[in-house]
Amino acid sequence: MTTEALHPFSKQLLAWYPAHARDLPWRQTTDPYVIWLSEIILQQTRVAQGLPYFHKLVAAFPSVGALAAAEESVLFRNWQGLGYYSRARNLHKTAKLIVDQHHGVFPSTYQDLLQLPGVGPYTAAAIASFAFGEAAPVVDGNVFRILSRYFGIETDIMHASARKEFTAIAQGLIPHAQAATFNQAIMEFGSLQCSPVPNCADCPLRISCNAYATKRTQSLPIKSKSKAARNRYFNYIVVVHQDKFLVRIRTEKDIWQGLWEFVMHETEHVADAPEAFGPYTDWLDFPMTELKAPAKHLLSHQRIFSKAWLIQVPDYVKLAIPSNFQWMDAQEFENCGKPVLLLNLITDNLILHEWLHL
Ligand code: SF4
Repeated sequence: MTTEALHPFSKQLLAWYPAHARDLPWRQTTDPYVIWLSEIILQQTRVAQGLPYFHKLVAAFPSVGALAAAEESVLFRNWQGLGYYSRARNLHKTAKLIVDQHHGVFPSTYQDLLQLPGVGPYTAAAIASFAFGEAAPVVDGNVFRILSRYFGIETDIMHASARKEFTAIAQGLIPHAQAATFNQAIMEFGSLQCSPVPNCADCPLRISCNAYATKRTQSLPIKSKSKAARNRYFNYIVVVHQDKFLVRIRTEKDIWQGLWEFVMHETEHVADAPEAFGPYTDWLDFPMTELKAPAKHLLSHQRIFSKAWLIQVPDYVKLAIPSNFQWMDAQEFENCGKPVLLLNLITDNLILHEWLHL
């Protein structure tokens, strides 16, 4: 039997890992469905925030078949608060595809996993290695950071060619016999040791780390500035009539597609009534209260500034409603997936909070 020769980097990383590995539930399984679910949750979410959602989603949808059979609105309800709903939409689409086209069995190679919607090179490598032992290296921000520091690489990690370069290096480091452990170890090392502010003082790789030797641990990796966030101004009009709310589902290719909201008019800048009401100024004749709206809501590339008003339409009035809107009672609306901004709006206003029992 031949022993695989390991690069000193891999040897030290694998020696570091057992004493530092956190006990996380998705590390106790080789079920590709559970691993996939955890990876999608963790794509834009920190471990501490993602853990309760992981438990909730595995309990609600214990298999890919259960997820495929679920209503999208039920998945959204369980996903509520995690944000980036395109992840939930892709999960659902992929679960259906696996059931319809793969008889409910996950593809088992990196290349086949890459064909699934919402599964990019990182997630495909994670599933291929953790579930099937394939030597496919995971490459994400953690890996860019560690390798650029350790090897002193000055490639801009925002550049399109960076992934190819770092993947080739990682491919040369990953041991075929311990692919899953190596991938887990490098991710953990990026979270706990070689983090954005690295803990070099007790790092086992320090002796051979290029950035440490050349005092560049703060300047590597090189990362050019990403595009500036865009400001948006959302004016919510919460219309209540005969104990029902006027609501709609967002269908446009925009943030929060598939989630529910009250009437909303977007303006180019901070606005007050009547400008904030846009086409709905007729409603200004009804009793109106300005609500406390979340002042600034941050998304990855957008800053949302919001204002909100409550319009209480007398019961006897027959109100014409804009197309795509419908009346919904509190209980029905409670069961609809909503953006976090809207949940905060409801929680911050006692009158809405009591109506909607959130
Ligand atoms: S010495 Fe510092 S920069 Fe180098 S690998 Fe260790 S933690 Fe990262």
